[in-house]
Amino acid sequence: MDGTLTQNDLSHVVEADKAHVWHHLVQHKAFETTDPRIIVEGKGMRVWDQHGREALDAVSGAVWTVNVGYGRKTIVDAISEQLLKLNYFAGALGSVPGALFAEKLIEKMPGMSRVYYTNSGSEANEKAFKMVRQIAHKRYGGKKHKILYRERDYHGTTIGALSAGGQLERNAQYGPFAPGFVEVPHCLEYRAQWDLTGEAYGKRAADAIEEVILREGPDTVGAICLEPVTAGGGVIVPPPGYWERVQEICRKYDVLLHIDEVVCGVGRTGTWFGYQHYGIEPDFVTMAKGVASGYAAIACCVTSERVFDLFKDDASDPMNYFRDISTFGGCTAGPAAALENMRIIEDEGLLDNTTAMGDYMIDRLSELKDKHAVIGDVRGKGLFLGAELVADRATKEPVSEKEVGAVVAGCNAAGVIIGATNRSVPGLNNTLCFAPALIATKDDIDQIVDAVDQSLTKVFA
Ligand code: PMP
Repeated sequence: MDGTLTQNDLSHVVEADKAHVWHHLVQHKAFETTDPRIIVEGKGMRVWDQHGREALDAVSGAVWTVNVGYGRKTIVDAISEQLLKLNYFAGALGSVPGALFAEKLIEKMPGMSRVYYTNSGSEANEKAFKMVRQIAHKRYGGKKHKILYRERDYHGTTIGALSAGGQLERNAQYGPFAPGFVEVPHCLEYRAQWDLTGEAYGKRAADAIEEVILREGPDTVGAICLEPVTAGGGVIVPPPGYWERVQEICRKYDVLLHIDEVVCGVGRTGTWFGYQHYGIEPDFVTMAKGVASGYAAIACCVTSERVFDLFKDDASDPMNYFRDISTFGGCTAGPAAALENMRIIEDEGLLDNTTAMGDYMIDRLSELKDKHAVIGDVRGKGLFLGAELVADRATKEPVSEKEVGAVVAGCNAAGVIIGATNRSVPGLNNTLCFAPALIATKDDIDQIVDAVDQSLTKVFA
């Protein structure tokens, strides 16, 4: 740590935090007996807390965001130069970085066309939902308005986005939700709902979507929103055959395909976007976390030209445009940071590194699986990986939440910050979750896996 804050300053920070900050995702009773951990500084993959304790961050800022790592001066410079020139302008007017980042982004997304700026993943998803609803009104008398979402997927924290939420822990007690959102089954083969494996399982899970469309009535279903790799709901990579079949079904019933890349977008899985592993052609792609690696708040709802055109026809109708705005969609720091973030990923070859390090980490976690019976399944794509912990491999009974918490805490104590998925399904929050920055080296991966190894040994000895 650079020492610009004295220990006295930091003690004051902790007291101020305890007195006034409402932290995300935490039961605050905990802070009656322990202090919150304040992260003071970061460099590369490492962070330092108020005690000067160093940690290797294996989750890129807790929620898989800081893709290019901490302390990137060129991003900070790009932001500050832009802010001095023009920090903000919104509404129908454009900005220089807004135009240039949109151009660069679309270059990486063949088949996509338009970038709508907003400031959080939830909001980006809401934009897509609103577009689907407006298309339903414009073209189908309001009838084709239903939006399908998948069990275990998460699309954001607002009531609209939670209405498309397939996770028990995020949704319980926040209803009633918006009507017109319908759940389809998840596609996690490890917790199979059908007695099939591999491609047959993938196709069957996708067929379940068709069944829901037929049950609801194809003339009422406007879109389906899916995560390419389900993140917080269990690190779920759909089996082979799944996406091809999903695409076929969407075409057959004229259902718009919305891919939520809030987590996977901008390199996390080793391609620019998760959907690009599968050759599918979405109508909407939403993204947030990795777009500017957390250096500025920026999210985007990207659409195909087909979708965009629907809002351009019949210009004589004064209601026929997307009647929506996002105040902070006008912040120029976001696209300025995002442009530089993308340059770094390209120039440093971070997509290839993500694939190579992801493969290495899967191998190392698989070795751990051979050693620890408590690891039931290892899965993931690129540098988004999970290890599901079970008390019994045969029955797949999950370990307790307390045990998962102890494994995470054990890693923390060893100087490695890891995460765990949430209770997406009753009783299931038993998957350790890893999303190190795309700059990770073999040594970093070894340090992460060794910490997990030791922590599992201690907790399940
Ligand atoms: N979609 C997915 C897949 C997410 O994981 C998240 C956040 N974890 C969101 C949407 C919501 O993004 P935000 O928190 O920026 O609103």
